[in-house]
Amino acid sequence: MAVQTVHNSSNNDAAASDAGIVDLGPAAALSCRECGERFELGPIFACQSCFGPLEVAYDLPTDSPEELKKRIAAGPDNIWRYAPLLPVPADVASKPNINPGFTKLVKADNLARELGVTGGLYVKDDSGNPTHSFKDRVVAIAVEAARAFGFTTLSCSSTGNLAGAVGAAAARAGFRSCVFIPHDLEQGKVVMAAIYGGELVGIEGNYDDVNRFCSELIGDPLGEGWGFVNVNLRPYYGEGSKTLAYEICEQLGWELPDQLVIPVASGSQLTKIDKGLKELIALGLVEEKPYKIFGAQAEGCSPVSVAFKAGHDVVRPQKPNTIAKSLAIGNPADGPYVLDIARRTGGAVEDVDDEQVVDAIKLLARTEGIFAETAGGVTVGVTRKLIEAGLLDPALTTVVLNTGDGLKTLDAVAPTTGPTATIPPSLDAFRAAGLAR
Ligand SMILES: *Cc1c(COP(=O)(O)O)cnc(C)c1O
Repeated sequence: MAVQTVHNSSNNDAAASDAGIVDLGPAAALSCRECGERFELGPIFACQSCFGPLEVAYDLPTDSPEELKKRIAAGPDNIWRYAPLLPVPADVASKPNINPGFTKLVKADNLARELGVTGGLYVKDDSGNPTHSFKDRVVAIAVEAARAFGFTTLSCSSTGNLAGAVGAAAARAGFRSCVFIPHDLEQGKVVMAAIYGGELVGIEGNYDDVNRFCSELIGDPLGEGWGFVNVNLRPYYGEGSKTLAYEICEQLGWELPDQLVIPVASGSQLTKIDKGLKELIALGLVEEKPYKIFGAQAEGCSPVSVAFKAGHDVVRPQKPNTIAKSLAIGNPADGPYVLDIARRTGGAVEDVDDEQVVDAIKLLARTEGIFAETAGGVTVGVTRKLIEAGLLDPALTTVVLNTGDGLKTLDAVAPTTGPTATIPPSLDAFRAAGLAR
C-alpha cells in the first residue's frame, strides 16, 4: 500500500513539521499491525482507519548476511551496532544519548543445575544498562525520534524504571523532562527518577490511572510539544526491545535459542523481541528453527496469564497488587499480541506469587551472583514453575531475562535478608556465633 499523508489532528503537528525531513535511517513508514495501512513517519501511534497500534516498517539492508554481521561486529559495544535495523539516523552513535545495551549473557550453569536444565541456561542480564533496567533500550530509540520530530520535552507514564531512564536520557541529550509515576513506588525507583534533575510527578493512583492521565495530557494544549516515549513515540520506543533479540542471538554465535522467558507488563518487550527474532531469520543472520516464547507475570497482576490459561483471546483488566511493581500494568496494551505469540510459538504465559518472586530473587543471587529486581524474580520463578509443569523443556537452550537491578527493589527482600549475626568485635563472640569453619 502506498504511503499516505498523515492527517494528524493532534497538537503535535507543529513539532513534526518544524523538523523538516525526518531521517530515521532505515525506517520507511509506520504500518498498522491490524490492517497494514501505512502512514508517514511521525509522532502518531494509532491507525487512523482501524485504531490498531502502529509499528515501524523498514527498508532493511540488502547486504549479504556475512557482510551485515561484519558491519554489526565493527559497530560500538551498545545497541547502535544494530543501527541498520533500527529507526535511528546512521550517525546515531555520535549523538548525545545514553548508549545502552550489549549487556551480559551469563551462562548460568549453577542455576541450571538447581533447576535441572541440561540444554544450556542463560540469563540475559539487563541490570547492566546505564539506569539499571531494560528501559534504557527503548528510551534511547525514543530520544532519536523525539529529536527528529522536534520535541523539546520528554515524558512518560511509568511503573518506575522508565521514569529513571527518561530522566537520564533527557539530561544527557538536552531535553527537558517531566515524567509521571504512581505515587507509591519503591524509594529506589523514585530517587532514580528524580536525581537527573527533571520534573517527577507522583500521581495518586495506579499505573493505569497514570497512563489514562497521560493520554489526556497529550490531547490537551498543556502537553503541546511533548514527546511521551511510550505513548505518541511508542512505535519507535517499542523497537528498542528488538535489540534484546539481536544481542541474545549474536552472543549465542548468531543462533536462535530454543526457549525464551520474558517478563510481561504492557507486553511491548515480548512482542518486539519476537519481531526482532523474525527479522534476524528474514535477513539470514540466523538459521531458521522453531523457538518458544514464554511470558512471565506476577500473580497479583496477571491479566495475560489468566487469559492464556482460560484460552481467551481477550485480556480482562485487573487491579494490580504485587511486589513486582515494574510489571504492575492491569490493562496491558499488547496483551492480545502476547497471547498470540505464546500460542503460535508453542510457549505459555505463567505467573508466580510474591513469595515465589522473593525465593527466585534469592535463588538467582545465590547461584549466579546476580541480584535481580522483582521482575527478574518473576522470570526465574516462572521458569522453575514451567519446568515443573513440563511446559518448558529442560533439554533445550533457554534464555531467561533479568530486566532490572535488585538495588531498586530492596524492600522486596529486606525483611527476609540481613546479617547472619551481629556481634561484639571479639574472637570469643565469633566462636560463640558458630560461624567458624
Ligand atoms: C517495563 C519493564 C518490563 C516490561 O515491560 P513491557 O511493558 O512488557 O514492555 C520488564 N521488566 C522491567 C524491570 C520493566 O521495568
